[in-house]
Amino acid sequence: MALGVYVSRCAGRVDAALDVGDALDGVASRAAVTRVFDDFFDVGVADSIVADVSAHGLDAVVLAGHSEEHYRKSLSASHLIDRIAEAGVNPNRIVAANILEQCALAHPDDRAGATAKARAIIGVAADRAGSGDAVEGESVRPKCSVMVLGASAEAFVAAQRLLRLGYSVVLADREDGCARAGRAQSMHATASYVLGHPAATIVDSSRLVDGDGFLGDYHLVLESPEGTVTYEVGGILLARPDHTEWVEELRRHFRVDVDDSGFARSLDPTMHPAETVDEGIMVMPLRRSDAKESEKVAAADAAAMALVLKLSHDTVVRYRHTSVVDESLCGGCATCVRTCAFGACYIGDDGFSHVDARRCVGCGKCVVSCPVGARDILSSPHDHLMRAVRDLAQVETTSDKVIGFLCGGCGYPAADHAAKTVAERGEGYPSSFLPVRIPCGGRLDTLYVLEAFKAGFDGVCVYRCRDGHCHNRVGNLDMDRRVNLLRTVLRSRNIDDARLRIVDISPFEGDHFVDTLNEVYATIGGLTNGKGGAL
Ligand code: SF4
Ligand code: SF4
Repeated sequence: MALGVYVSRCAGRVDAALDVGDALDGVASRAAVTRVFDDFFDVGVADSIVADVSAHGLDAVVLAGHSEEHYRKSLSASHLIDRIAEAGVNPNRIVAANILEQCALAHPDDRAGATAKARAIIGVAADRAGSGDAVEGESVRPKCSVMVLGASAEAFVAAQRLLRLGYSVVLADREDGCARAGRAQSMHATASYVLGHPAATIVDSSRLVDGDGFLGDYHLVLESPEGTVTYEVGGILLARPDHTEWVEELRRHFRVDVDDSGFARSLDPTMHPAETVDEGIMVMPLRRSDAKESEKVAAADAAAMALVLKLSHDTVVRYRHTSVVDESLCGGCATCVRTCAFGACYIGDDGFSHVDARRCVGCGKCVVSCPVGARDILSSPHDHLMRAVRDLAQVETTSDKVIGFLCGGCGYPAADHAAKTVAERGEGYPSSFLPVRIPCGGRLDTLYVLEAFKAGFDGVCVYRCRDGHCHNRVGNLDMDRRVNLLRTVLRSRNIDDARLRIVDISPFEGDHFVDTLNEVYATIGGLTNGKGGAL
């Protein structure tokens, strides 16, 4: 495996707080090429990396700089990953090492600690990139069609834009919203245009009863007085993010982020006002009750444009970061079938478990539930996570050492957000907190916690979505059942179970992240049982 490790100084913010050369040293001997750039988004950087891929035959790449979320979600940043993938590196072997938000910005006054942490994080990312199996890509021609849920004013404006650009639109409402819009004076011309357009399908009094697929190729089943019909669309626009019944029905099949009221929201309203978790599913920003017409139109334009940007390609490639089954181990017990909240597991005629790739979201709950270890997730492999725990335990720190398992839905973004809290308060949390990203709280195997204590950690902290917010529906609750059993095991080994803390958090609660982590350190500091791991 030829590995390339690239570091971004992020316009000076990284090397202001840590020693980049030292951080990179840990992987120098196993990398075919290492380079440091002022910023990954400077002109010519992508070309340099692509040239390296060809010159050094790279088949694994680490991008050390911003958070994983940034590289995957931002249009500009994901372009960098797309270029590297097009050059021949499988996307499952392109891994971000977050040395900006969770090292440099988190520990601006602790150069030695931030450097040691960055070194460890780059090492873990290199292991993940170098050991990851290639994921299969599936090319589809995106369907030039969008389903709009909820007949709001914004829905009609967005539908009109899409129709004018040559898309077909299915506009669905739970009540008689489409019919009412046709009779209303407000936005009458827009509503009439949509309702009378030959490429528009209008479905009042409908429910979303099933759905599967991915960007460019969603299958959605609507039930209405006219019957039950399957629509094939490239994208989805939730035009009523405050309509919790639509939100709940969508969340049974897809990943949509919600707030405390159960309303759908964008993952990052500051950068992508319309985008939620699953690609190609957009949500209209929540509007104030006194919003002006011009604000509604602007929101609708942004949402329609976000979809057009995603769908206006000859092909989109969907990489299958799904669960995989080792048939030589699978006994057909169907535990995974009962565990999967998305109906993505089934027992085939051969007696083995199979995965429906159109429904699997890669949460990893089935991996943890399988009694014989027959399952894994290519983007979050078991062996890599075990090695990550052991490798991070080797980091030398001057204070108690805590490992954090951060779920990709809420915990990890909250840790990124904590960088802002640290800047505002002028104080943060110890650099001896070492993070590991997991796709969902439901992916947390109790073996990782036991391994962490065995390897010498003084504490284990799990940050996961709040109840009702889990992107994978109930992954966080499944974790509770396992952790409650684990506490008994810890106590039986004379480890105070207060060393294990589970924190419910939202993606934007950086302050809660910092506060709870400092509480954890305060608690651990007062404990004697289990210090430095005692298993
Ligand atoms: S839980 Fe494991 S052994 Fe049981 S059916 Fe699923 S993959 Fe097979
Ligand atoms: S990874 Fe999650 S969605 Fe996929 S089969 Fe397993 S439990 Fe179901």
